[in-house]
Amino acid sequence: MTSIYQTVGIVGAGAMGRGIAQIAAQAGSHVKLFDIQNGAASQAMQALEQQWDKLLEKSKITAEQTSDYKQRVHACATLQDLADCDLVIEAVVERLDIKQSLFAEIEALVKPKAVLVTNTSSLSVTAIASALKRPEQFAGFHFFNPVPLMKVVEVIAGLKTATPICDDLAIFAQQMGHQPVMAQDTPGFIVNHAGRAYGTEALRIASEGITDFATIDRILRDQVGFKLGPFELLDLTALDVSHPVMEAIYKQYYEEPRYRPSVITAQRLAGGVVGKKVGEGFYTYVNGVAQVPPEPATPILADMPPVWVSTRAVRRAELLQLLKDLGANIETGVSPSAHALSIVAPLGFDVTTVAIIERLDPARTIGIDMLIDDQLTKRRVLATNPATRADMRDAAHALFARDGKPVSVIRDSGGFVTQRVVAHIVNIACDICQQGICTPKDLETAVTLGLGYPMGPLMMGNKFGPTELLEVLFNVQTVYGDPRYRPSPWLRRRGALGLSLMHVED
Ligand code: NAD
Repeated sequence: MTSIYQTVGIVGAGAMGRGIAQIAAQAGSHVKLFDIQNGAASQAMQALEQQWDKLLEKSKITAEQTSDYKQRVHACATLQDLADCDLVIEAVVERLDIKQSLFAEIEALVKPKAVLVTNTSSLSVTAIASALKRPEQFAGFHFFNPVPLMKVVEVIAGLKTATPICDDLAIFAQQMGHQPVMAQDTPGFIVNHAGRAYGTEALRIASEGITDFATIDRILRDQVGFKLGPFELLDLTALDVSHPVMEAIYKQYYEEPRYRPSVITAQRLAGGVVGKKVGEGFYTYVNGVAQVPPEPATPILADMPPVWVSTRAVRRAELLQLLKDLGANIETGVSPSAHALSIVAPLGFDVTTVAIIERLDPARTIGIDMLIDDQLTKRRVLATNPATRADMRDAAHALFARDGKPVSVIRDSGGFVTQRVVAHIVNIACDICQQGICTPKDLETAVTLGLGYPMGPLMMGNKFGPTELLEVLFNVQTVYGDPRYRPSPWLRRRGALGLSLMHVED
């Protein structure tokens, strides 16, 4: 294979540098590794050789490929040794001053046509380039850890980056077996920006005492199809990594409320309860296995009250059919009888507000999240209001669990758990499109490959309904009076017109 860049220099032979070295060598480039720490580049080379030997053992690569790859990587003793590189990729410590002075040094020794790129996650590409004489030949090239397995790379144009430089980097990404996505130089670029919604909104819900961490995880796994719940994910990433990212993006966006971090993670980080790697996070780990508290048992009831369903319930026909299938005694009057359990299914509004507006007895009123078609979810979520009687809560729990589908009962919240988290993910994604940070298509690719979500955020919005999610946000904003829930213009217009969120204006 002939690589678009014949000789690639990599500065910083840590976790990222060595991963990038591996795929660059596999793409056919000669790779020169340099690290300021004595012996680090040679160690990285040895680790790479072992990695290729393992792949050979597993028959993932041939003996010929193994020796080719090994021959293409060289450890360098000085930065000067990178003078003949066509491309230099920097993956050193995340500090602006260090990166700026390092690049000034590299620029002075390489050929005038050489391209320089940074793997920074959180610094501005434009700010790093400001120390250079040829900022047009400088770009961001943001990989994810572990590099060989995370098959996406963000190509970031700084203010002065020449377009052909980004186009060539995109070709090189493909030669390395990665999917390039093109991003403008903005805080968090695409993946770390889009990823702000899942954890922060889940933390917000937990901070309001709506329910516990494990229940939030179960709901989002079972209702939406996330592989990991937000707290499982935070435990895996570890708070010493993710809390500073939350803070950095919030600060860089001048305290945009949508990205507001949580005191929960700040305090846990301060206390060292950072996640799986220390055995203690949102879950406790024994031999690396999370100790998940058991789900509350389904109540057993002697008598089941009759059930009345609000005329304003979302998916009312489906809800009535579901209740029929569950063998409920359904009332059909315009209002509930004196003994009936009243079921409401709001979008964005809390059960309390709905009970008051519909003049229902709050003691007998329960909410169910019907944003997603019941047949498409593996869990039902009910919400009480502060006045709901325990016997009514238990009756609803037992009734909705009759066919064996798990049921979670949470406290009242505008938008339940799924509505809030999904609306937040979709809203932030729409705002990324609104700001022109990337194309809708690249956003979908970046999030699916970079965050492992079951589908891209715009696709998620289309699946659950842009109009419904817009309604969720409007109503949650009314309940909370919090600008964090104001809809992005991208969602507002497309949702109001019933258009796909991928719809791009001419
Ligand atoms: P790391 O600590 O594993 O490796 C950094 C290496 O750079 C070390 O070996 C260190 O000795 C070397 N180094 C430091 N200063 C140097 C200098 N002036 N010249 C040459 N070498 C120097 O770090 P990492 O996780 O590989 O991260 C590197 C960069 O990649 C950072 O900018 C980070 O933000 C970014 N990044 C990291 C991840 C991740 O998940 N680890 C993901 C994407 C991007």
